[in-house]
Amino acid sequence: MKALFYLGPKKLELRDIEEPKNEDGVVIKVLETGICGTDIKTFLRGHHLFKPPTILGHECYGIVVEKPAFVEHLEVGDYVAVAPYGECGVCEKCRKGLPELCKNKTYLPSGCFAQYITVPANHSLRGLFKIEKPGKQVVLAEPLACVIGTVRKFGVPERVLIVGGGVMGTLFAIYLSVRGTSVRILEPFEWRASFLKDMGLDVMEPDALKEKGYDMVVIAATIDEPFQYMDLMQDGGSLLLFGGYPKDKRLTLNPFHLHYREIVVSGSFGYSLPDFAEALEELGIENELYSKLVTHSYSVSEYDKAFEKVMDKECMKISLRMWENDEKA
Ligand SMILES: [Zn+2]
Ligand SMILES: [Zn+2]
Repeated sequence: MKALFYLGPKKLELRDIEEPKNEDGVVIKVLETGICGTDIKTFLRGHHLFKPPTILGHECYGIVVEKPAFVEHLEVGDYVAVAPYGECGVCEKCRKGLPELCKNKTYLPSGCFAQYITVPANHSLRGLFKIEKPGKQVVLAEPLACVIGTVRKFGVPERVLIVGGGVMGTLFAIYLSVRGTSVRILEPFEWRASFLKDMGLDVMEPDALKEKGYDMVVIAATIDEPFQYMDLMQDGGSLLLFGGYPKDKRLTLNPFHLHYREIVVSGSFGYSLPDFAEALEELGIENELYSKLVTHSYSVSEYDKAFEKVMDKECMKISLRMWENDEKA
């Protein structure tokens, strides 16, 4: 089978390797995999969790081709969305309602930029979801699940300011718009701003930033001064850091907002399996809306073009199709 190997920063190679064997896991024929922010970061600069040579990619769907008998919720031939990790459901964090912080998560052992993957027994029972409508929007399940996890914790706001109109910011915008929130997005990059406007979203000019009254601000980009937006917030609002920062990064904020105005600052990281299930349901219902966000799709053999596109930034979610139209499994 073909698999796209990451060999170090800016080095990828399509290799022919042996297909995974079904020992006690479920074998999935991967159809399409999204390129995630983490894949891009790794591709550009490397990542402590992904030591080359390795296969990246974790946002995929495909078809069950082999499964052990104890996996009763799936049949061979079913279309499935693959959750890249799942919480244990029984540890202290899970019981406290913080499943995304579970320390006993199960994971996919290998990346999904490959024609087949094996999902191990301990992950396959809960991390594989049967889907009725396969399609490119399914690669958004994992990032959308992260949005849903955040809204589960902080609620649906009345007025939200989203700083950063990339894939995550836009998923927030769509998910909250559908639920009646008044959404404004700050996105300086022209291509993205006009893409968002075409989607019917309210993109703000930076000088309109005097407007106040947001009960939630989502920082969906890694920026140096995320707390500058606190002045625009209602008392008691929440400011959420959705973009990740390096471990040793320090930011400054004015504690006046925390004490006298009771603004809550928090972050949000990852998803839980119920969030993932809800994301799939949402993608099924609002399929047309979300699928617009997958702006480019390449065959895996065109991986260089796909990563070039990632770098010029005139795109939202990009997916790689793992099979050529005329290729046999
Ligand atoms: Zn992802
Ligand atoms: Zn747990």
